[in-house]
Amino acid sequence: MATKKVKTAGRFLARYGVGIRKRIIKIESKQKKRHKCPFCGKKAVKRLAAGLYQCRACGKKFTGGAYTPKTMQGTIVKKMVEQKSFVPLVGELLAKAEKTEELAEEEQQLNKQEKEVKENV
Ligand SMILES: [Zn+2]
Repeated sequence: MATKKVKTAGRFLARYGVGIRKRIIKIESKQKKRHKCPFCGKKAVKRLAAGLYQCRACGKKFTGGAYTPKTMQGTIVKKMVEQKSFVPLVGELLAKAEKTEELAEEEQQLNKQEKEVKENV
């Protein structure tokens, strides 16, 4: 039973320990309430499944965090994508990948040379 004190964790009765039940209250209170819709602005968004949300006013379905439509990490990544601030990093990674490929080619050539030397001896 959900009471004022134990809220949704009341279904666990006295089991699993206080700490873990308090943590689940913290998450479930955010998870089960209605969130603001990013499309129509109404407070009608409900969670369908982990990371999946639907607005009951405009019917739009969208993805988000596992328990809330917006998470701190999610907004950071979204901003990074919008500002394309990850592009220099991608450039660096590509450069590194090219270098490793070059190194691999050089190694292969060296191996070939070694084999040739061994065959000659
Ligand atoms: Zn909506």
